[in-house]
Amino acid sequence: MKAFVPTFIALTLLALAGCQPAQPTEIPPTDTPDTPAPITETPTVAAPLRASEREEMVMRQITGRDVSDPETLKAMRAVPRHAFVPESLQDQAYADHPLPIGYGQTISQPYIVALMTEALDLQPGERVLEIGTGSGYQAAVLAEIVDEVYTIEIVGALAEQAQAVFADLGYDRITVKHADGYFGWEEYAPFDAIIVTAAPDHVPQPLLNQLADGGRLVIPVGPPGGYQSLWLYTRAGDDYQAENLGGVIFVPLTRTVRDE
Ligand code: SAH
Repeated sequence: MKAFVPTFIALTLLALAGCQPAQPTEIPPTDTPDTPAPITETPTVAAPLRASEREEMVMRQITGRDVSDPETLKAMRAVPRHAFVPESLQDQAYADHPLPIGYGQTISQPYIVALMTEALDLQPGERVLEIGTGSGYQAAVLAEIVDEVYTIEIVGALAEQAQAVFADLGYDRITVKHADGYFGWEEYAPFDAIIVTAAPDHVPQPLLNQLADGGRLVIPVGPPGGYQSLWLYTRAGDDYQAENLGGVIFVPLTRTVRDE
């Protein structure tokens, strides 16, 4: 995993400097003027086609950079990303950038999804918690690899929408909850891995507590609206080892449960 860090940072800096149209960073901060207007259109689930677009996405954006974990690549080839985005954006579903999904939120860039999935070092049979369901795409990628995925979303409409897409596509091992994910999901803890796809300004203690021994937590941490560092925490008994994976930009982890 060490090998990808310099490239990742280099690509990130390039993107931040505006040198590349294809951005390997995460979503723009929500308060930037170019933030797209909220989209309220529900994704229409199409048949899981577009395999050649997915193959090209994996080759150019994922193996072409530095992600090589076979399970991650297989999952990225399998999940029909276009089914998780609003219909009017489905033609851009496999492009090298995040896309708006409504409610001021975004589906992450494919590369970031792959990078974070690889960093979790998942094994079949494991139990994973995601904070920030959003479109549901990252949860579906996880469900291709492990047996049980639990995912929490703070915006009610997004939680419902993602649940509908999971049902349509037959992802029946993903369980969704509408709540503030800061507190994790005690009922199903401990988790072999936890992934957070919105950025808090500190690591929530409940998430560290809910990691199994040997468990991994991947989380962007930094000021809201600014750049964050992507951290990998690994638990060994009562000790936690932290590794900085590089600079990213995510939407902030919010603390107000929205019913819309
Ligand atoms: N993983 C998503 C992308 C996430 S965007 C995907 O694959 O599409 C970040 C998401 O985190 C948003 O949907 C946002 O509403 C949600 N979020 C923000 N704060 C949260 C919190 N405290 N608990 C749960 N979800 C939260």
